[in-house]
Amino acid sequence: MSVDLVLHGGVVVTGDPAAPRVRAVAVRDGVVVALDEDARALLPEAREVVDLEGGAVLPSFGDGHVHPLWGGVELAGPQVRDATSVAEVVEAVRRWTAAHPETSWVLGGPYEPTLVPGGRFDAAWLDVAVPDRPVVLQSTDHHCAWVNTEALRRAGIDATTPDPAAGEVVRRPDGTPMGTLVEWTAMDLVLRHAPRATAVERQDGLAAASRLLAAAGVTWVQEAALSPGDVEVYLAAAAAGRLAVRANIALRAEPDCWPDQRAEFVRARQAAAESSVAGEVSARTVKMFADGVVEAGTAAMLAPYDDAPHSCGLPVWSPDELAAAAVAFDADGFQLHVHAIGDAGVRSALDAVERVTAVNGPRDRRPVIAHTQVVDPTDLPRFAALGVVANVEPLWAQLDPLQLELTAPRLGPDRTAWQYPMASLVATGAVLSMGSDWPVSSFRPLDGLSVAVTRQTPAGVPAGGWLPHERIPVGTALSAYTRGVAYQAFEEDRWGAVTVGRRADLVWLGSDPTVTDPAGWPQVPVRGTWLAGRRTWRPAT
Ligand SMILES: [Zn+2]
Repeated sequence: MSVDLVLHGGVVVTGDPAAPRVRAVAVRDGVVVALDEDARALLPEAREVVDLEGGAVLPSFGDGHVHPLWGGVELAGPQVRDATSVAEVVEAVRRWTAAHPETSWVLGGPYEPTLVPGGRFDAAWLDVAVPDRPVVLQSTDHHCAWVNTEALRRAGIDATTPDPAAGEVVRRPDGTPMGTLVEWTAMDLVLRHAPRATAVERQDGLAAASRLLAAAGVTWVQEAALSPGDVEVYLAAAAAGRLAVRANIALRAEPDCWPDQRAEFVRARQAAAESSVAGEVSARTVKMFADGVVEAGTAAMLAPYDDAPHSCGLPVWSPDELAAAAVAFDADGFQLHVHAIGDAGVRSALDAVERVTAVNGPRDRRPVIAHTQVVDPTDLPRFAALGVVANVEPLWAQLDPLQLELTAPRLGPDRTAWQYPMASLVATGAVLSMGSDWPVSSFRPLDGLSVAVTRQTPAGVPAGGWLPHERIPVGTALSAYTRGVAYQAFEEDRWGAVTVGRRADLVWLGSDPTVTDPAGWPQVPVRGTWLAGRRTWRPAT
């Protein structure tokens, strides 16, 4: 039997409890056809042989919640993620703008909201660098924007502009806008005046993002929120051979207008299913935002914020309308993917799923609650009971400046300790899936996996981990970023483990994570990625 590829010379960590560690894997026609000694016996027959040089092959990663299209488009603007002060952000924006005289709107990011107390950024700081063209920077959580005065002027935002529903225009004491816009509805007041990235720019951005993900060992993504018109960008990129990952797209439903979106969503799903790249791109999921984020005070909480006793946050939907929309989209055959951060947001998402099951009856629907940040302990068993996939972005489960300065003070000590309850959810039998939420945070699975296991910052703080009872074992973490996401994708029979008959979706790591210190995983090099036996990443030599 001739084969296309044999990987040997290291360990294969299969993710299959029946044979967790083998010495080789053989691939034919994109599928794993032999393991261990059977695979090594095929070495003379192999068209290509890869010596793992003592490294490890694992099932490649799936990203259960990521924004490749936005993140890819954002890569084209000023990059300020690594800036450690307002001055550095402003300088980066000034330099980029000077180098791009043809650009009418300067759209970039993401900036770190903890650079300024309360995340309240002033338009005047950007005006110094760019007085004459509108500038819009998005925060790392992409729930806030920092804009300059020209952007406010173009949007017609002044002291008389009311706050939009579920959003806030941050103001000076005299009522004039300061330059920070909180939540989508407020950001949109400005962004709707900005030119939309062209189809070419969007396809270029998506292709670039997919290459980054492939380089991190990812072969499948849940694109977490797009409009139906964006599906075409994915289909075109895939048809042109520019997509280095497979993708399922979540179409974003909005309060009030969701009844009108239903037919459009069905058409977008059908366009993907009937396209020549149907095996690579689907659009069978609907995304809803139950709430915002804790750091902006917009996550929906059951009890008021500690630092704002008048506020329980800003739910995006009323719980009743969320449930009604969930029932409707489920009846249309969509999978649900609900952003829920606060304990009230999580509860309203669980309630919506409960209503869906009661109204539409049982079926294999695998609804996803994404982020799953603050969970009231009484709601923990409901994930497993309702068949809800708990998606977490494990990189967030650390005591970084965001948590210390913006999150914990708002939640207070009790609710701070309810965050990212990964071990508790697994203990209840819930399916855990992981993701990055890039460009919110690093797209590299090994960065997030390291935190899932240690609950420590890169500096190793705190010793023993933050909320150490919520650390999860190495095998559980790896499974959540592979098999857990494959389950979310309804494809656990096809990928998420290295077994004979599953697709050859593989990642080659420089060392075996199951025997190295998890704190060092972010430094482990990704040496290769294969999607259905096709090499999608190879480091430059
Ligand atoms: Zn997201």
